[in-house]
Amino acid sequence: MGVGFDAVNLTEAVDMAIKQIKDGKKGYVVTPNPEIVYQAMENDEFCTLVNNASLVLPDGIGIIYAAKILGEKLKGRVPGIDFASLLMHRMSKENMRLFLLGAKPGVADKAAENLKKKYSGLVIAGTKDGYFKDDMEAVETVNAVGGADVMFVCLGAPKQEKFMSQYQDNLNVTLCCGLGGSLDVFAGTVQRAPDIFIKLGMEWFYRLCKEPKRIGRMMKLPLFMLLVIRKKLFGR
Ligand code: UDP
Repeated sequence: MGVGFDAVNLTEAVDMAIKQIKDGKKGYVVTPNPEIVYQAMENDEFCTLVNNASLVLPDGIGIIYAAKILGEKLKGRVPGIDFASLLMHRMSKENMRLFLLGAKPGVADKAAENLKKKYSGLVIAGTKDGYFKDDMEAVETVNAVGGADVMFVCLGAPKQEKFMSQYQDNLNVTLCCGLGGSLDVFAGTVQRAPDIFIKLGMEWFYRLCKEPKRIGRMMKLPLFMLLVIRKKLFGR
């Protein structure tokens, strides 16, 4: 559908990210779900910056179904939040630095507090909420604390992908990761779906029940699946 996913599992994705950090090679990670792929299909520029990421991880069961239908080999879901959790675990062993950018005021601070307790050894370099007026102000805040090995950029799509692509050269950060609403989960202001929903591939349904206003956004999912089936049947 125009987006080139990496056929990796969770451990392989984190291994690649750690290698990139150690090599000091700047880049960014994206975690597209069907909604983001749909946006990429509608906007070539956005599609290019998604494909320019160093890692494109399949977040969302719809991506896995689409890949199956189209005969593309993916190893399974790599949800952004699981990627972030394992990455922090690995970073904490080497006292790496993490900056948290995004979400409503106070959320990133609360997430930092929780993450410091959970991953002792992880250095939280700083935090900033995601409702800044001037992008350069955010870039300067990150650089003023001496930068970081990794920055979680949680501004929602497509804002976070555009931010990472546009400012990666200005930021004193090796790897940026676009992670949507993850800081809300790490702060405990939003609960992730219970395991049974995740196992059944129904996490999207749980989120919809919790936040019914997502219905408009989620209508993109059946539309995306229809486009996948059309591509399978008619090749376009
Ligand atoms: N957000 C932000 N700045 C903005 C718009 C959104 O920091 O200008 C945050 C918002 O508070 C939320 C996250 O971006 O924490 C987006 O969450 P959403 O649930 O839309 O992302 P998803 O997990 O579905 O990709």
